[in-house]
Amino acid sequence: MDLDRILAEIVDEIAPHRGEGRVATYIPALARVDPRKFGMAIATRDGAVRGVGEADERFSVQSISKVFTFALALEKVGAKLWERVGREPTGSAFNSIVQLEAEKGVPRNPLINAGAIIVTDHLIEANDADAAIQWVLTVLRDHAEDQSIGIDEEVAASESETGARNRSLAWFLASFGHLDNAVETVLSAYFRHCALALSCRQLARAALFLAFDGEDPVTGERIVAPQRCRRINAVMMTCGHYDNSGEFAFRIGLPGKSGVGGGILAIAPKKGAIAVWSPGLNDAGTSTVGALALERLIEKTGWSAFA
Ligand code: GLU
Repeated sequence: MDLDRILAEIVDEIAPHRGEGRVATYIPALARVDPRKFGMAIATRDGAVRGVGEADERFSVQSISKVFTFALALEKVGAKLWERVGREPTGSAFNSIVQLEAEKGVPRNPLINAGAIIVTDHLIEANDADAAIQWVLTVLRDHAEDQSIGIDEEVAASESETGARNRSLAWFLASFGHLDNAVETVLSAYFRHCALALSCRQLARAALFLAFDGEDPVTGERIVAPQRCRRINAVMMTCGHYDNSGEFAFRIGLPGKSGVGGGILAIAPKKGAIAVWSPGLNDAGTSTVGALALERLIEKTGWSAFA
């Protein structure tokens, strides 16, 4: 299969749609991004990463970081993770607080904000947010094969300054005794991992282990056990795209995760990892043109899980 040709076709096909959707503005530093940007990259088993458009430009991965923190926490604490977070889609917005009270401080899944705050808490030992962030960075840098990957501190600060909703969620979780570390410590790690800046190429390469049973197919290093990898993919398929996860499965049929920075990560099991970036979002928070590009990709490759 000629993936370079396929990517070239996709960039032409989405061209009339560039700029569609609305850039997230609730984090002021994200509002400045050019909505016409588009990049896409595919990493395959041999470690080759093919890219098109602005595939080398770093963007704010936002909630896509939740996939990596989820994977690391699940591998670290195992089934204990499920004591404080569920694995059901919400049918609500990513930052909703309504279900939390009725469901006694147990967020529906690890890929919404409240669930990711619980996950972040599991990554932190002895109230040391810096060490947890360093761990996430090391994993990403090693598997993306780029030691320069880092956090956009301006985005992290912008999010913290405007983070009343995430603070509310975290304090609410704490009121149920569901955070082991101090609320501000957990939030400081949460805001920073959301502000990780990666290019599509780096993101696709770093996530390749999720397509290959939890093992980086290039280095042979295991990041998560195979049965956990299967479950992470299941949660991505059912919960990865806010309140349009069903729509995404319907159109694309791959496990994935959207971020409000306009990125989408999609996993094609046994084939590869795909990252796409286009900042304009639909009403649910998923990249409009990114989803379109992935739809084209699965039509051309037959990589849908339901092909
Ligand atoms: N950092 C963002 C927030 O917590 C993540 C939102 C997202 O990408 O879904 O609001």
